[in-house]
Amino acid sequence: MTPQFIRTIPAAAALVLLPACPSSSAAAPAVPRVEILYPHGGSLLDRVCVNEFHVPVDSEDVQAAVEKRQAFQDEWNAQGPAYMNAALSEIGIPFPYAEVQATLTVCLRESTSVPLILEVREFLPTAKTQAPAWEFSEILFHELMHTYVSPALAHSALMEKYRNEPPTTKYHLHVMAIEKMVLLELGRPDELKAIDRGYRDASDPGYKRAWEIVNDIEGYQPFIAELKAFAKLAPAGRTGG
Ligand SMILES: [Zn+2]
Repeated sequence: MTPQFIRTIPAAAALVLLPACPSSSAAAPAVPRVEILYPHGGSLLDRVCVNEFHVPVDSEDVQAAVEKRQAFQDEWNAQGPAYMNAALSEIGIPFPYAEVQATLTVCLRESTSVPLILEVREFLPTAKTQAPAWEFSEILFHELMHTYVSPALAHSALMEKYRNEPPTTKYHLHVMAIEKMVLLELGRPDELKAIDRGYRDASDPGYKRAWEIVNDIEGYQPFIAELKAFAKLAPAGRTGG
């Protein structure tokens, strides 16, 4: 699992006032509604990908993604809000959008946060080895967290400390810290173990390095502390990223 790194455009709107106590679920920032999209017959994006990038696509994968779109939606609806709620209520930064659309692809070879695109071949029945269903929601959560942390990065001393690392490493530090925090908080050691293995074995060494910084060098907590400090800034201060 090597979800794409990113950067994102911070939204102007800070929709929710900061809770007095970020851990209080009653005052937690609102979790965005997420819609999973993949049109009947496949997406124009995937056709452009085939025609312009010359990436081979199996038409059975396209059909399988069309047929599985609702199952992906159900999977997210069942699992995603728990991830989001754990992250947002602990950190306290409002998510910048009330609703987002996640588009599936069976052509691009990575998932991306901006635009929000999820590469799902490994989850389809056509895959040689199918990935476990829970990973879909975790990858989507990972991509949403890129958007979530982006405005805070300009204020981060740890980003400054690791400024000479490759972009894949730098832009995953806070995202991976949130993944670890949330999986610990939700009591999902098996998922954490799978992610640990995935990042340490990733083909792009930038992921491995980021995971090592978050786990073995700094610990995940200092990254979370930076995000919580950012949440306490006035909304006007929070938008500059
Ligand atoms: Zn990523």
